[in-house]
Amino acid sequence: MDCNLTNTTSCKSSDKKEVKLLILGSGPAGLSAAIYAARADLKPVVLTGMELGGQVSLTNVVENYPGFPEGIGGFELVERFKKQAEHFGATIEFDSAVEVDLEKYPFFVRTYQMEYLAEAIIVATGASAVRLDIPGEKEFTGRGVSYCATCDGCFFKEKDLVVVGGGDSALEEAIFLTRYAKSVSIVHRRDELRAGTILKNRATANPKIRFIMNTIVTSIFGEDAVKSVKLKNVVTGEITEYPTDGVFIFIGRSPNTQLFAGQLEMDDRKYIRVDQFMRSKVKGVFVAGEAADPHFRQVITSAGMGAAAAMQAIHFLQDRVEISK
Ligand code: NAP
Repeated sequence: MDCNLTNTTSCKSSDKKEVKLLILGSGPAGLSAAIYAARADLKPVVLTGMELGGQVSLTNVVENYPGFPEGIGGFELVERFKKQAEHFGATIEFDSAVEVDLEKYPFFVRTYQMEYLAEAIIVATGASAVRLDIPGEKEFTGRGVSYCATCDGCFFKEKDLVVVGGGDSALEEAIFLTRYAKSVSIVHRRDELRAGTILKNRATANPKIRFIMNTIVTSIFGEDAVKSVKLKNVVTGEITEYPTDGVFIFIGRSPNTQLFAGQLEMDDRKYIRVDQFMRSKVKGVFVAGEAADPHFRQVITSAGMGAAAAMQAIHFLQDRVEISK
């Protein structure tokens, strides 16, 4: 195999594998699909993508997934999903798709390590953090700019931090960061938070958290590490330099669907369009989780979509003689 991880176009996998069902993504959607498909003896292969479990594995505690009244760590939940899928015969490959051809049948998927011919595909590639796209953000990523409090929070013991965003993620992660930080300033662009009441109340009651409303971060400064941010009050126009040791950005997510551009129908935000049966426009290709869901984006809804997609894939494979390609 001649495969360069940094240059996917030069990646030529020589190993080939024929599978009934290939699942792209190992978050709650992909692994739930794997559990259902494996129980139907489809022997699904799951490509984990860059990270086993996707975003939820980076979440400190999941408190709203039924069955865990005390909450459960995101990574532990993913490990349990994985173990359950493997128990029924799913294969989990630590690999990512770099090319797909959905015009061919069986569908062609090239990864870093393998070429797959798949009779059905479930796309469960999830979503990634949206960047602010401001000066200093890229330069200081990993040196004070972060998109994951669980991963990086412990590096900021007794430090002053800025969290950008006003949704559930921003507040949840800000609260988590107060375990380590001396102070956390939540900078939100409006005068009203988007987050739900429980998190709003918890954040407001936390003595380490302060809110800077109607304000955006316009640039990030530092030397070896972040030292300050420039803030702009969007009502008064006032610009201030605000000292901080770190900037955690939680302003939403965008779907990981670039691989399917031109092959699957998408909306204007690049979420793949599916019908109520998780079917894409290409017969035999199903989509589950955040790749197709701009609305709910919860562990439980993604898991439900994964189960539904797998049930449809099972039906499709039973009836595939009717599909002429
Ligand atoms: P979100 O709900 O889309 O919130 C994004 C926040 O970032 C909003 O407050 C938005 O401001 C702000 N924002 C967006 N673009 C910005 C920009 N360029 N500059 C400054 N601010 C910007 O995203 P999320 O918080 O990641 O949540 C995603 C989904 O997961 C939601 O459905 C949420 O309920 C769910 N979630 C649930 C939990 C939980 O239940 N425990 C935890 C985390 C996430 P505006 O408000 O002005 O639009």
